[in-house]
Amino acid sequence: MERPWFKHYDPGVPKDIEYPEIPLWRLLEQSANRYPEQVALEFLGKTLSYKELWEATRRFAEALRAQGVQPGERVAIMLPNTPAFVIAFYGTLMAGGIAVNVNPLYTPRELHHQLVDAGAETLVMLDILWPRYAEIAGEVPLRRVITSGIQDYLPFPKNLLYPIKMRREKRWVNLPKDPKRHDLKTLLRSYSPIAEPVNSNPDDIALLQYTGGTTGISKGAMLTHRNLVANTYQSIAWSPESKALEGKGVMLGAIPFFHVYGMTVAMNFGLALGYKIVLLPRPEVAACVEAIEKHGVTHFPGVPTLYTAFNHFPGIQNRKIHTIRVCNSGSAPLPLEVMERFEQLTGGKVLEGYGLTEAAPVTHSNPVSGLRKKGSVGLPFPGVDAKILGPDMQELPPGEVGELAVRGPNIMKGYWNRPEETAKTLVIDWLLTGDMAKMDEDGYFYIVDRKKDVIIAGGYNIYPREVEEVLYAHPAIQEACVVGVPDSYRGETVAAYVVLKPGANLTEAELEKYCRENLAAFKIPRIIEFRKELPKSAVGKILRRQLREEAIQAQKVS
Ligand code: AMP
Repeated sequence: MERPWFKHYDPGVPKDIEYPEIPLWRLLEQSANRYPEQVALEFLGKTLSYKELWEATRRFAEALRAQGVQPGERVAIMLPNTPAFVIAFYGTLMAGGIAVNVNPLYTPRELHHQLVDAGAETLVMLDILWPRYAEIAGEVPLRRVITSGIQDYLPFPKNLLYPIKMRREKRWVNLPKDPKRHDLKTLLRSYSPIAEPVNSNPDDIALLQYTGGTTGISKGAMLTHRNLVANTYQSIAWSPESKALEGKGVMLGAIPFFHVYGMTVAMNFGLALGYKIVLLPRPEVAACVEAIEKHGVTHFPGVPTLYTAFNHFPGIQNRKIHTIRVCNSGSAPLPLEVMERFEQLTGGKVLEGYGLTEAAPVTHSNPVSGLRKKGSVGLPFPGVDAKILGPDMQELPPGEVGELAVRGPNIMKGYWNRPEETAKTLVIDWLLTGDMAKMDEDGYFYIVDRKKDVIIAGGYNIYPREVEEVLYAHPAIQEACVVGVPDSYRGETVAAYVVLKPGANLTEAELEKYCRENLAAFKIPRIIEFRKELPKSAVGKILRRQLREEAIQAQKVS
């Protein structure tokens, strides 16, 4: 079908996507053949070439195979961005296994849920996280745990920006002689590269990516080899400039690979194009700035909170950050001010895009050289069809707000072992995103808000994002998050959590007055709280639900 967005595609971007029907690991094989000596991974001063990475992943695959891991078995990976993550992930796929990404900050309870739900029999984890496993060891179906020291590839540097929590654990962790425990380094030394990696079918599951999805509980989105290969190719096709840097680009791997956004736009994208990927175990802004200067980073995928922190980093205007060419921002709305300032500072482009775990993940992006519309997440990717649905599932005309639905080769197979949830989310071959959105006449999409984040106060619908946009436009405000809290009279009321820029002053009364000037009365936050920082997820997304919980607790106390 002719859709209005095609005429706004940049020259050279295809309408449909062509991608090879191959297992994902072939992307690494191709780059290892083309760029064997090129650095694939750089991690705190040490490097692995494509040839070395290809060999290590094949050794890991052989180790799994030799230990009896069968095609289709789940291998959970609980590692930050390290060479071990890349080796474990690609090695698992070469053994025909299904990778299960686990956030390294998970508590034993969360780890337990994910291991049991996925039925994982193997866990690859950072050694210092052992105590989290030890606490639940008797209750999970694991047959083997492979531990990797972060220092397996390097001396532990003094200035390593690493979660304090992990550092504390390191002091008391004492790896036991456990019959189930294997050491990654020893495994890689003991096994030779797999002779024939498993040539999975494109529709076999490659990854279970856990997500709250559109309905609370954490469930595994089944992403196939096709989904991941297609989204990598879609992302590359979108940016001819990135394609032109094949074999030369430098990708900053700051956002976590255990989230599908980092996995596709940083790891798989970088490896497919033979880029050097600079790995950072944490998306710390100081480490990002240093890495950009030191390695001449060309690609810096991030999230709005990371770009905000970057823009406000002391002395940023005097740093050598002009190698940046293309950045993708996703996972939450990117305030315009943040985008413009970042572009002024670096000379690179930030493309706001949109996606979700269930779409592996990117479905929309603003064009690289064409028209970027204010507040829009851009145009559907090549091969993605998108529409806005009304309450009776009818397609709505441009300008009207409804639920965004998407389809394409990157849309998941369903949720692991949850046919009912799958049936609610995948309708025929359309994915219901749970996001309220609209499309304009040109085919640009605008995310209005998450369906379930809409605040209903006194019968009015209030979209937190709209109020946040107003707050972000205030010169004293660095970050803001707006949530709905229960109110006995209005049903819900608006609460705003605000972080001020360093040195800025703003009182509650002043902010209220400003809101009054810019928002209809029913949208004005009745609760305003200034904070030093806002709670964020590992990927850097502001934890809206946590703030809502805190507001509810505070109400109970008062
Ligand atoms: P996740 O599955 O954790 O990647 O979260 C996906 C959700 O993040 C989407 O359903 C949206 O609600 C939100 N999201 C992603 N990108 C954007 C964006 N550019 N603007 C607004 N919301 C976004």
